[in-house]
Amino acid sequence: MKFKSPRGTHDILPQQVGIFRRVVDTSRRLFERSGYREVVTPMFEENELFARSVGSETDIVQKEMYVFKDRAGRELALRPEGTASVIRSYLQHGLHANMDVQKLYYVGPMFRYDRPSAGRYRQFHQVGIEAIGSLSPYLDVECIAILRDLAKLLGIEEVDVLINSVGCRKCRPGYVEVLKEFLADRYDSLCSDCKTRYRSNPLRVLDCKKDHDLRCRSTIPVPMDYLCEECRHHFDEVRQILDSSGIPYALEPYLVRGLDYYTKTAFELVFKSFGAQNSLGGGGRYDDLVEMLGGSSTPAVGFSAGVERIILALEMIADSESKREEDKQKGRVVDVFFVITDESIRIPAFREMLKVRNILSVDMDFTGKSVKAQFRKADKLGVRFAVIFGTDEMNMGAVKVKDMKSGEEVDVSLEDLCDHLGEMKVE
Ligand code: AMP
Repeated sequence: MKFKSPRGTHDILPQQVGIFRRVVDTSRRLFERSGYREVVTPMFEENELFARSVGSETDIVQKEMYVFKDRAGRELALRPEGTASVIRSYLQHGLHANMDVQKLYYVGPMFRYDRPSAGRYRQFHQVGIEAIGSLSPYLDVECIAILRDLAKLLGIEEVDVLINSVGCRKCRPGYVEVLKEFLADRYDSLCSDCKTRYRSNPLRVLDCKKDHDLRCRSTIPVPMDYLCEECRHHFDEVRQILDSSGIPYALEPYLVRGLDYYTKTAFELVFKSFGAQNSLGGGGRYDDLVEMLGGSSTPAVGFSAGVERIILALEMIADSESKREEDKQKGRVVDVFFVITDESIRIPAFREMLKVRNILSVDMDFTGKSVKAQFRKADKLGVRFAVIFGTDEMNMGAVKVKDMKSGEEVDVSLEDLCDHLGEMKVE
């Protein structure tokens, strides 16, 4: 009999462990540099913990949890996300007693019975942070900044920060009423999932991909327009701090995220080149969760990011870079281009070119182009090296050799030019 890893799971093989570690190690360093300390919680918890926090009507709890009974009949669940466990641990161990703001982070596998596809697994890894104990909008921005920095530190530049405010328990019920009224008139045009959501969790209709048309065609009410004074003020502050910190963002009024516990700020970091599963990470404020799990009223904010999703982005970037390099190499006409800074140097340059042609392909301009235009031509020809014949250098019997890939320039005597270029590996 041949065994395979269960559907939606994957092995991280030795050749992939390096990149996996790089993502996790970079996350740990960044989190610790920002004052967060690691907490390691069990991979399974009481099922009720997630029903209560993530929300009993959410897709995660309704359809995606691995729930099982142990031999003593306890109802347990593999954790689908990290925040609920961190807050449970925070309360269980009284971590709130000795700190005004507790900054915690976690790294580990999560489990969701999701339909597997590129970047979507049934066991995947998340890194995440939680700042528990303050309503300060600076902490919202700190979380957004750390998530964005994580991507940038790893070399993922093409990202967008999307933000929204989903209100609080004071203003959200009023908004949900308005939304339900709006959807009631259009009930028949909703997809089957949204028909269920209409009854159980109408907010999620907003980010349903299938009902895109509904959103575009109509003037669906969005939470941002129904915020109470406090939420509006908090959101304005978050935006001002983002602006003054130079963090670019886009307002995404349909962003609601899949977990019920979010209040006020919700945010996501998306990788532009991804198609459907474009979110690298996301989070937001959850000011009621600690209380919902039995603690005193304690505001908090955090995010989680998907390690496999980040790796996918890194692989896409590496692929497109090597493709660009390959294209460039394929388009290479000659290896070396001779650039002359003055017409008076053409004769010695021409002479050298004929010599170097014994070992490499070389060309130069014969139409009297400016130095800039000669470099443009060198670029077009896809050369690896440009040899620059300047008057000053020539007086000293030397030239500059520029590596067109790295931009590095070295002085080489004319005598040594052939040998020097011969030694440079032109792949
Ligand atoms: P969430 O906990 O749903 O807010 O998701 C946070 C991040 O975890 C997402 O932005 C993804 O990067 C990652 N993620 C969520 N679900 C999956 C999954 N099924 N497979 C892989 N990564 C996931």
